[in-house]
Amino acid sequence: MQTEFLIIGQGISGTWLSYFLQKANRSFIVIDNDQPNSASRVAAGIINPVTGRRIVKTWMIDELLSFLVPAYEELGNELRINAITQKSLIDFHPTPQMKIAFDERVKENAGFLFHPKDQWQYQETFKYDFGFGEVDPCYLVNLKEILPAWRKRLLSNNQLLEENFEIEELNHSNTEVIYKNIKAEKIIFCDGINSSLSPFLKNLPFALNKGEIILIKSDNIPSTHIFKKGMMLTSIENDLYWIGSNYLWEFSDDQPTEQFRKQTELLLQTWLKVPFKIVDHKASVRPANIERRPFVGFHPAYKNIGILNGMGTKGCSLAPFFAKQLSDHLTHTNKILPEADIKRFAKILTR
Ligand SMILES: Cc1cc2nc3c(=O)[nH]c(=O)nc-3n(C[C@H](O)[C@H](O)[C@H](O)COP(=O)(O)OP(=O)(O)OC[C@H]3O[C@@H](n4cnc5c(N)ncnc54)[C@H](O)[C@@H]3O)c2cc1C
Repeated sequence: MQTEFLIIGQGISGTWLSYFLQKANRSFIVIDNDQPNSASRVAAGIINPVTGRRIVKTWMIDELLSFLVPAYEELGNELRINAITQKSLIDFHPTPQMKIAFDERVKENAGFLFHPKDQWQYQETFKYDFGFGEVDPCYLVNLKEILPAWRKRLLSNNQLLEENFEIEELNHSNTEVIYKNIKAEKIIFCDGINSSLSPFLKNLPFALNKGEIILIKSDNIPSTHIFKKGMMLTSIENDLYWIGSNYLWEFSDDQPTEQFRKQTELLLQTWLKVPFKIVDHKASVRPANIERRPFVGFHPAYKNIGILNGMGTKGCSLAPFFAKQLSDHLTHTNKILPEADIKRFAKILTR
């Protein structure tokens, strides 16, 4: 089988890369093993434009939003699903100091931050003492439907192999890569945390980060907003809500822990005034890295081995933008943003 590009992984990165290559009329095969606890299958899909105790804008957020909102809408139209929803974030102040910090940032006109009209409007649903601020706009990406819908499309076009990719079976030269019966011009790894084990890419400064989430059922939490108090709480379908997450740099496995479950149950009991029932508990590992910038582009020594990865906590906002950059690089030799291009690691990659 001959194709231009072999893509490993159909999380949010592989989905967007294959989507843009499809639009550019280029040929590709995706190989994905449908790992149920891959980061894209555990994530909520929240896009929050601000971050940290100083509540500052996240990297490139204005540029990312103006690209990604129409991109998700277009993908949604093509797949006949609602791919993205605008929601504001109700950020309950955990302490009076945090309220002051938020108010200061609103005064500084920091962007995305607003005072609510009525500080106590959620009192029937939540227990809170210091009011809340509003972050607007935020977005919720419908990963739950996008990934299977795009998968179905790839399958019906004979562009997806549902199997485990085994790197030992890969042969590569300067002009082509050969994997089992597939001959391709280039291979691009969108395989999340697995790239950190790859003989070609493991020197990239991955800093994997584990996170856990709980799914609850409840009838009485507004689905119109994302709520935050220590953790994020958002509706993901009808009466099903996602709450998470924690960030662990040191961990011995990728499994859910009793400790997180207890801690989250306690948070919910002290935060929610409405009844809820825990229905699931999952864990996953984020393909994060020390610089908090994506890994995009081609290996400096092996010109036909590429990567779209390193999305960390922000796959939903970074993946579409950088998949388009990589697709344009492949189809029109456009430059990849230097802060994302793995050329910046040429020294360690060729060691
Ligand atoms: C708990 C948690 C909550 C999160 N919440 C959010 C959020 O709300 N918003 C947000 O933007 N980001 C969030 N993230 C981060 C986000 O999930 C990641 O940035 C993003 O999913 C990374 O996508 P990816 O496609 O690069 O990798 P992955 O999602 O890991 O996808 C890799 C794909 O490759 C496949 N694969 C791997 N190895 C092989 C192999 N050998 N053979 C075949 N297939 C293979 C896997 O099955 C998978 O489909 C969260 C992450 C976690 C863990």
